[in-house]
Amino acid sequence: MPTDPKVTYRTCKKCGKTLLLVDGFWCTNRVRGWYRHECRDCTRKRNHAWWRRNPEWAKATAQRQYAKRRDYLLSPEVRHGANERIRQRTAYFRVQVYAAYGNQCQCPQCPERLHGTGNPLFLTIDHVNNDGHLSRRRGGGSAGTDLYRKLIRGNFPDTYQLLCFSCNLGKARNGGVCPHLDPDGSSTREQSRTLQAIGRGSAPLRSLHCG
Ligand SMILES: [Zn+2]
Ligand SMILES: [Zn+2]
Ligand SMILES: [Zn+2]
Repeated sequence: MPTDPKVTYRTCKKCGKTLLLVDGFWCTNRVRGWYRHECRDCTRKRNHAWWRRNPEWAKATAQRQYAKRRDYLLSPEVRHGANERIRQRTAYFRVQVYAAYGNQCQCPQCPERLHGTGNPLFLTIDHVNNDGHLSRRRGGGSAGTDLYRKLIRGNFPDTYQLLCFSCNLGKARNGGVCPHLDPDGSSTREQSRTLQAIGRGSAPLRSLHCG
């Protein structure tokens, strides 16, 4: 506490803001009640700028601190706790995203939707315009928590939709239309290619396309 109880406000010498002493300024000596003459914001900015000006120092310090805490950070208990928090956060985001996109497969002929259990474990996020490869190439927010966060921040853009895994995969392999909606789609390029490959006896090696 300040020695002089009357002094409760101070004007920052750098930015000129007048703030409550105990909230707006860092204490430098608790016993004597000394506070900085620049406000907390200005102190923070000055410190950040210092670390930015001294990258080698920042790196060395970070490595030293990490080395000191490494065993602790990598211990099973800490890792388990961290993983659990990530799982919970992802689930929390997923519930919001799925609810916003209707909580069911959006293919109108989807058997899972018509006769299924509506189990959300079958659901995936689909790129409506089949441009998932582009956002994957751009990186950032193409899967998992990052994607959910992006959708929430973007207020659930309609370039995404929910599809069950069958519809999503079928749509990708059928040139952008779910095979449920395209019963005569056997002539489409991808399917005939797949059938050819099966006919030749070599399994079609193709990475799963989700969106
Ligand atoms: Zn200031
Ligand atoms: Zn479906
Ligand atoms: Zn479908």
